[in-house]
Amino acid sequence: MLATVDALLPLSLLEAVRNVDTPSDQFDAEYVDELRNKRLGLSDTIYAQIKRHTEAVRRGQRTGQDEAIALSKLIGRRPDAEAIFRAAGRHMARQSYRTISPVTRKMMRLLPSAMARPLAFRHAKKIGSRYLNGNVRRVGSFLLFDVPRSITLGTAPGSVGCTFYESSLRELLLLLIGSIGAVEHVRCAGRSEGTCEWRADWRSFDRTAGLD
Ligand SMILES: [Zn+2]
Repeated sequence: MLATVDALLPLSLLEAVRNVDTPSDQFDAEYVDELRNKRLGLSDTIYAQIKRHTEAVRRGQRTGQDEAIALSKLIGRRPDAEAIFRAAGRHMARQSYRTISPVTRKMMRLLPSAMARPLAFRHAKKIGSRYLNGNVRRVGSFLLFDVPRSITLGTAPGSVGCTFYESSLRELLLLLIGSIGAVEHVRCAGRSEGTCEWRADWRSFDRTAGLD
């Protein structure tokens, strides 16, 4: 069977490229036609792909993993690859978080952590699996996240590609439980350490008592 990813994954990469390449000042904006040829994110190809994947996301369809890998390679060749991968990861987290009902999102923020955490964990697991093709599990006061088939692995020098998953996990935990703890890349397939794996702080703090 052909390996697939949720269409939101390639869409996040595309949106990040477009954002980075969109002129931010008036001077650049006046030459947008000229820039269109030079900047990938403004090209007709990217525009068409964004349209296609937006439609796929709307329909809840998945797309071929090879297409997402090809896109990662294109990004990985750029000097600003890490910034793009990180922005794409954040985009991915925000959009997938929005698939959780507003009531549940509110509950996760307002309930005491003993009740909110199991709920947040279930959603982290679900989102990690559906949108990032990864496995979320809890070990002691940590949350572990591993991705057996990374689509960004080896697409940029060193572990740069891995920053996509790292920033996605960090943003997701920020949204789910308000965590600003460290997310560490503890194992990397790029360093021949098996599967890429990240470790995040999952300790709960009583919000009314502040951080202890
Ligand atoms: Zn890695």
